[in-house]
Amino acid sequence: MEGYGIVLSVIVALLVGLAAGKAWERYKLVEGRWIDRRRLRQSPHFILGLNHLVAGQVDLAIEELERAAQLNPDALELRLVLGNLHREKGQVGRAILEHQALLQRPRLHKIEHANVLLCLGLDYRRGGFVDRAVAAFQDVLKLDPDNETALVNLEKLQEDQHQWQEAYVTRRRLAQIAGPPDQPKSQLILAFLENELGLQALKEGRLDDAIKRFEAAIELDSRVIPAYLHLGDARRRQGDLAAAVATWERAIAVDPERAYLSLERLEQAYETLGQPDRFAERCRALIGSAPREWRARAALARHYTHGGEPSRALELLFEALEHNPHAIAIHQAIWGTLSVLDLPKHLVARYIDITGQSVFYLDPHVCLRCRYRSTELIWQCPHCHEWNSFVEERITPATDTEAEIPAALVP
Ligand SMILES: [Zn+2]
Repeated sequence: MEGYGIVLSVIVALLVGLAAGKAWERYKLVEGRWIDRRRLRQSPHFILGLNHLVAGQVDLAIEELERAAQLNPDALELRLVLGNLHREKGQVGRAILEHQALLQRPRLHKIEHANVLLCLGLDYRRGGFVDRAVAAFQDVLKLDPDNETALVNLEKLQEDQHQWQEAYVTRRRLAQIAGPPDQPKSQLILAFLENELGLQALKEGRLDDAIKRFEAAIELDSRVIPAYLHLGDARRRQGDLAAAVATWERAIAVDPERAYLSLERLEQAYETLGQPDRFAERCRALIGSAPREWRARAALARHYTHGGEPSRALELLFEALEHNPHAIAIHQAIWGTLSVLDLPKHLVARYIDITGQSVFYLDPHVCLRCRYRSTELIWQCPHCHEWNSFVEERITPATDTEAEIPAALVP
């Protein structure tokens, strides 16, 4: 719904620009006739439509703008906007017809032509006509090579189809156009795309190529954690376990919040290297530096259970549960460990006591950009397509001590 709001505000801005008339010439030669664009502003329907749009009443806005368009049949922008409103309402077929009809107009300016094709491309993308959308955006770029909206949409379509190399080229173009202010964002996206290209190489058994890609990803942006994980995997496949361990440890140093992604790999590797104690040390260090960290506790608990120390494991799991009652993995681990211990009554009672005070909720991973929720950590949001936008939401048992109640609420 947020995307819908953004599109609406863009449309409103466009219409306000049209009304103010600053960016638009007052008179325009259309099909050999001079048209006075002020007529548009004088039409009550136009202003009424604008008001409805600002109030979020899309249907009423369409009705009034349709009347305004009938009074001004040459106003290309109005028909473009009407088409866009139909698309935003989900009437993609109608939007396509509206925009296609505009292409039939004789003597379209180059930039008008590009705008119509851009709207058509957005219609096709919304309707799921991928090939047609790609073709439309490419046509826009022939007329207007620096059109950022067309490039961004093209990039997302290429990513959707896992055409990582093509998406990479498109993002490089966007980075060039936007210049330095956009650089960190583009670097991050390029790094994720390098990581995808590395994964593709890994799948096809091109180990050296994969390693180059993952290293390039880290070089572009050191925060791209999956590149470290996969670089370590590739090193391990090469037989260099020490280098793999160093890479995974680096990932933990870069982003301790996501240390758990490296922990499972490290546990196995330390075991193979004959240094199992290093795993407990690493988990303890993580817990010490982030007292709320639950995954390190869960990983260490698993390690203790396998090592024949279930009581020690259970203490860690209870601690983890207090910090993150929503994690089903912890409940499962607790019941597994309680079973190993033959369900001692006092420990079961402690479990019931801890969970009784907890607030539960689902899908703890949330996209910072669009609030999309997911049970798993995802690197690219399936809803708004942003890279690296997920954080884990955490809730602990509610406390209502006086100190936390705002002064205004205290009677
Ligand atoms: Zn999102």
